[in-house]
Amino acid sequence: MPPAGGPAQDLLRHDDASRPSTAGEHPGGLGVRCSGVVHLYRTFEGHDVVALSGVDLVIRPGERVAFLGPSGSGKSTLLTLLGGIQKPSAGRIFLGEHEISRMPEPELAALRSRRVSTMLQGATRNLLPYATARQNVGFARLALTRAERKEAVPERELLARVGLEEVADQVVTTLSGGQRQRLALACAVACGPQLLLADEPTSQLSHADRDAVVALLHDLGDELGTTVVVVTHAPEVADTFPRTVTMKGGRVGSEGHAGAEYVVVGAEGVVHLPTHLAEEWPAGTLVRIEPEDVDRLVVSRGAGDQDQGPDRGRGPDAGGAGGGISETLQNDRRHP
Ligand code: ADP
Ligand code: MG
Repeated sequence: MPPAGGPAQDLLRHDDASRPSTAGEHPGGLGVRCSGVVHLYRTFEGHDVVALSGVDLVIRPGERVAFLGPSGSGKSTLLTLLGGIQKPSAGRIFLGEHEISRMPEPELAALRSRRVSTMLQGATRNLLPYATARQNVGFARLALTRAERKEAVPERELLARVGLEEVADQVVTTLSGGQRQRLALACAVACGPQLLLADEPTSQLSHADRDAVVALLHDLGDELGTTVVVVTHAPEVADTFPRTVTMKGGRVGSEGHAGAEYVVVGAEGVVHLPTHLAEEWPAGTLVRIEPEDVDRLVVSRGAGDQDQGPDRGRGPDAGGAGGGISETLQNDRRHP
């Protein structure tokens, strides 16, 4: 594979040097807006599983975001909803100006074939198993016009970008897990989407391959202005993204911007405690929330007793069960 962070080679345009720069011609990234998104799955037994319980999220055109969070927190569900693969049970999702949560299927299919690429969790689900690597890339480009296909980087070159040159004519079923993952990503970027959604795209890769794949994702953003969203558990991958969104229990629990972590206020004022505090302050713990000034709240754990005075639980001298632990929450208005 080429070294990570090497010189960017155009993914879509083939003969770059022979033509004047086309910067600004490409349509750029697609922004995303979710409001009150809820998603339920019905199990075979007829139970409802709440996968998303109210997601409010805005991703700007061209932004690059890593979704983090424990298993079962709703990351994959959210990604498939953004990619128009499933429709939310409730709430609204906009891609650019289009509300995809209410879009008729033919329109949605057109959006998926040209403007939005989703790489589902588990590489093989994205591939035609009995076709070769090269045929898979060709299939991913079926929606391009003849002229666009001519202009695009040849299949072999795109495969070389992800280190699959040697196996271009091998059938998918003969490829290793890591090779399939790289092929799935090559297919996802093959028609230069405006929004790329990739669910754990590096989970099966060696460190070198992982770095090369991450470089490819960022090149897509640099070259086409594509909005890039990845789900990842790897800190090395998340660290390359300027923004992180951490899912927790079916909603956005916190966000990282430029290295600083922000808890997100959810619907009805719900705020998740940071994980390390949540263990010490279990569900059912009584807390007092007192404004200190406009931008600061003091959250203190008091006793469950009835005679708790107004100052109880505040400061290191306060009594009561675990009394006196307090946490200051600050509303940072500089946050973008
Ligand atoms: P993550 O990607 O963060 O691990 P998922 O979006 O896959 O989370 O899952 C969120 C919740 O929805 C989990 O409780 C999971 O068990 C449940 N879930 C996901 N897919 C299905 C499905 N097809 N049927 C029933 N429940 C599902
Ligand atoms: Mg998942």
